[in-house]
Amino acid sequence: MAHDVSSATDGSGKLVIRNIGLMLSGALEQPICDADTIVCVDGLITAIGREKDLDTERPATVIDAQATTIAPGLIDSHVHPVAGDWTPRQNQTGWIDSFLHGGVTTMISAGEVHMPGRPRDIVGLKAFAIFAQRSFAAFRPGGVKIIAGAPVIEPGMVEEDFKELAAAGVTILGEVGLGQVKDGPTARQMVGWARKYGIQSTIHTGGPSIPGSGMIDKDVVLEADTDVIGHINGGHTALPDDQIRCICEGCKRGLELVHNGNERSALFTLRIAKEMGQLERVILGTDSPAGSGVQPLGILRMISLLSSLGDVPAEIAFCFATGNTARMRSLTSGLLEVGRAADFVLLDKAQHSAGRDLLDSVRLGDLPGIGMTIIDGIVRTGRSRNTPPAERIPKVVSATS
Ligand SMILES: [Zn+2]
Repeated sequence: MAHDVSSATDGSGKLVIRNIGLMLSGALEQPICDADTIVCVDGLITAIGREKDLDTERPATVIDAQATTIAPGLIDSHVHPVAGDWTPRQNQTGWIDSFLHGGVTTMISAGEVHMPGRPRDIVGLKAFAIFAQRSFAAFRPGGVKIIAGAPVIEPGMVEEDFKELAAAGVTILGEVGLGQVKDGPTARQMVGWARKYGIQSTIHTGGPSIPGSGMIDKDVVLEADTDVIGHINGGHTALPDDQIRCICEGCKRGLELVHNGNERSALFTLRIAKEMGQLERVILGTDSPAGSGVQPLGILRMISLLSSLGDVPAEIAFCFATGNTARMRSLTSGLLEVGRAADFVLLDKAQHSAGRDLLDSVRLGDLPGIGMTIIDGIVRTGRSRNTPPAERIPKVVSATS
């Protein structure tokens, strides 16, 4: 099935997705769109609205959504890829393709730190980051967009190193703290250099993740001033609640909640962000592959966890994994807006969920079923092999190519 629908579309020409039952925009300020049809041309969204009002003539591909829900493809803000679709951390192949079956269409590397023999000298770590950026830009398992090439800073790096990395195409740092730079002042200086050349930064917050990594507390986090507070709920060991509160209140940076973290601390952080009226700072990741494995449904599980136990509407929880991340990370996907990438996940209530509909089922703590994923206007998968089965699934009703 997945193979058949994939070969039916090549992303060029016009794609019409009609009969959409519910449209989740990814935008906190208006999480549900009043629309039933999306038109895309050459991999970009060109119109969103009611079918009768849109130009749907001469499509290359038409998808009947069968009244299911469409959302922007999910974004995992924190992964540790290494080489293609293989991870040495748990010696698995195909993990990225499995995440696609969990609705993830974009991943952001927090450092390719599981590479056996990872270079830690400065010329080596720069070369490795550039290599990772190139290889993941050129090879996308299942079509998933992987923003990689995230060097882990080490003592002795100078401004020129960051200038050189940026010029070579590096756009993100790996988690500060996973190398030997673990003090606030050094981290702050290097993060500042990175920012000066357009490289975004994140930090390992909390206790050591595996033997060999270190403890990063609130003082280092606040002083380092990275763009994203990487796994503020720990990866896995979280900081005490008072330190988490200090970080939330002490800066305006992104608050990343990860699946491979402390779930109670994730809910605590969410509550603070809500109290502060700053839900736009909340973004989601899995922090996998990790000691606790890979989680193809990790982002969906976070959405369900935060909605059901964190008391936020499901349509808001979807924004944490889509529009919030897209805006914070300057991605072209993540929002249902004209001009954005045609990256979508189509979902429905899982069979036999007690929920009335998709949003209610997530609010009750169930996972939705995925019926289709689309990246750059190309149908990538049909019914997910990993989610519980969706009640209804979309259909490709016509394709000319
Ligand atoms: Zn970490």
